[in-house]
Amino acid sequence: MKLFLASNNAHKAAEFAALAAMCRGPVRPEIQSARAVGGMPAVEENADTFAGNALIKARALRAVLPPDGWALADDSGLCVDALGGAPGVRSARYAGPGASDADNLAKLVDALRNVPATERGAEFGCALALVGPDGAEQVFEGVCRGRLRAEPSGTGGFGYDPLFVPEGETRTFAEMGAAEKNSRSHRARAWAALAAWLETR
Ligand code: IMP
Repeated sequence: MKLFLASNNAHKAAEFAALAAMCRGPVRPEIQSARAVGGMPAVEENADTFAGNALIKARALRAVLPPDGWALADDSGLCVDALGGAPGVRSARYAGPGASDADNLAKLVDALRNVPATERGAEFGCALALVGPDGAEQVFEGVCRGRLRAEPSGTGGFGYDPLFVPEGETRTFAEMGAAEKNSRSHRARAWAALAAWLETR
C-alpha cells in the first residue's frame, strides 16, 4: 500500500519511512514522496488546529494522485505552557515567514529566558490526515509531553528537538538516536493509531 506524503520536509519523510518499516502486520505501508507526482501542491495552512492543517494538505495532495493513491499529511508543532500554547500551528514560521529551524529555536530560547525550570512544560502535537482513493478522510493524533531546556543541546532530529526533553528522560530528542525518538514521539504515537486503523480495514 503506497502512502504519498504531503510534505517537502526531508526530516519528516525519514521519520515516516522508519515508522513504516517497523510495521509487522499484514498491511505494509510504503511511504512515497510527493515528488513522485510532481511535488506537493502549494496550499495555505490557515486552520487553527494541527488536524485542520493536516486535512488541507492531504486533500490537496489527494487531488493530484493516481486514482488508487492514498495521501498522508502531517501537521505538527510545539505548544509551550508558558506561552499559552504558542507557537503551536505556527511552529514552522514562529520567527517569521521563511524562518529556519535555527531562527525558530533562537526565538524560543529568547522568549523563555526568564521562565524558571519548573514552568518550562511543553507538548509536541502531531495530527496525521489520511485521504483515501474514495475521498474518505481519517485523522489520527499523538502528543508527547516534556519540558524545555534553557539552551539547545544535541545534533539529531530537527526543529525544536534540541530544546525538548520528553517526560521520564534527561536527554533532549536531539541527543537521542532516531530509533529512540521514534519509539515515543508525538509522530510515532499518531502513526501507531494510523497503523492500528489500517489493520482493521
Ligand atoms: P509543519 O510542517 O507545518 O507541520 O510544521 C512543523 C514544525 O513544527 C516544524 O518546522 C518544527 O519546527 C516543529 N516540529 C514538528 N515536529 C517536530 C519534531 O518532531 N521535532 C522538532 N520540531 C518539530
